[in-house]
Amino acid sequence: MSLHMNNAMKYLKFILPLFFCLPAMAQTTIRQDAAIKQMVDEVSSKNIETIIRKLVSFKSRHTLGDTTSKTTGVGAARNWIKAEYERYAADSHGRMTVKFDTFTQPKSERVNAPAKLKNILTILKGTDPKDTRVYIVSGHYDSRMSDVMDPNGDEPGANDDASGTAVSMELARVMAKRSFPATIIFMSVVGEEQGLYGSTHVANRAKAENWNVDAMLNNDIVGNTHGMETDLKDNRSVRVFSEGVPTVAAGNEKQVAGLVSLGGENDSPSRELARYIKETGERYVDQLDVKLIYRRDRYLRGGDHIPFLQQGFAAVRFTEMNEDFTRQHQNIRTENGIDYGDLPDFVDFNYVQKVARMNLSVLANLASAPAEPQNVGIITSGLTNRTQLKWDAPANGKKPAGYYVLMRETTSPYWEKKFYVTDDKADLAYSKDNYFFAVQSVDADGHESLPVYPKPVK
Ligand SMILES: [Zn+2]
Repeated sequence: MSLHMNNAMKYLKFILPLFFCLPAMAQTTIRQDAAIKQMVDEVSSKNIETIIRKLVSFKSRHTLGDTTSKTTGVGAARNWIKAEYERYAADSHGRMTVKFDTFTQPKSERVNAPAKLKNILTILKGTDPKDTRVYIVSGHYDSRMSDVMDPNGDEPGANDDASGTAVSMELARVMAKRSFPATIIFMSVVGEEQGLYGSTHVANRAKAENWNVDAMLNNDIVGNTHGMETDLKDNRSVRVFSEGVPTVAAGNEKQVAGLVSLGGENDSPSRELARYIKETGERYVDQLDVKLIYRRDRYLRGGDHIPFLQQGFAAVRFTEMNEDFTRQHQNIRTENGIDYGDLPDFVDFNYVQKVARMNLSVLANLASAPAEPQNVGIITSGLTNRTQLKWDAPANGKKPAGYYVLMRETTSPYWEKKFYVTDDKADLAYSKDNYFFAVQSVDADGHESLPVYPKPVK
């Protein structure tokens, strides 16, 4: 049996009747959707470089900085970002709309007086009115220097986080021309450096307005391919940070306790999303190694995925493999022979392109897929050495052609076997006590939904 879910899953891209088990060390077959591959190829490092250099040209994008100048400061930056999204939306036949998400942030530790802040939400409406799913890709456009309260210095923020902003923008440009059954939101948020305020506002809104957010992808610091230590060079790997035990949000305490009591602490919705990203990203992007990091975020750091986790949504953070901390949150200067500052010449635009392509493949595959199966249960009414699973078809949107039942050893990070069924149940000759399982919907073209980890049912 292959140790890598990837090989196993890529091998089985063709539809087979009933249950199918993989032979040992299966040969890898990669089946790509030509339309998704075409979009992936259209993501351009030249455009990404143009966006990042333009964002840097505003000198400062500090959240509390100038909003009156036409050429510098956070106000000019957000107006330019919005105008660019509107230019992309012109290709969408009216399906893509661009809006400021405006709110007043009260005084807080890093906000010295109430401040009017503006996120940019670019919404590519799904074509199926019954399909309520929403996918979000996000980066923060604000920047900072050594003193987080100083709005007036030169704070280019090329990597942190013009790189992530460029991912959302370049994806909007490519995807505006396409249609998907589910909705995709390309988001550029502000206030991250002051305390995740922009993303918190959107996450709270999403919860209050019952948005069906199926996944949120946060790109923050995705452009640097060498560590502070010069021997750390890596333009191939990207980290996906995902939490294990879900953040306890109001009302989900029982659910979290139930998950943990049966060993599901490695199968939170965000962890399933991370595995899905590895499988899908590596299917479409060459020379890409998606590294699953089993943590919510790095030490001493946070990001815009966290407010979404706190509202109970699946969310992950993407960040380059090795960070150069002389280029983050630093005044531009030379000290003891070391250059500091987050300047665009230190961004590897081909690497940002690779990360953007990974994001695109995941969003396109998810937004094209049927919704997840509902009420996925593992039957525990008797003590047996088999595994019986049952579920319901997704309530809304297109009907799946079938389902994959995913299986892995309890000690394995990735799914190892995949059984295709067209029914809404499965009976496997493997003990539920000895393996982990999940179920995902799949359409006739092979687009898979996120996997759902089963709950015990009678
Ligand atoms: Zn950042």
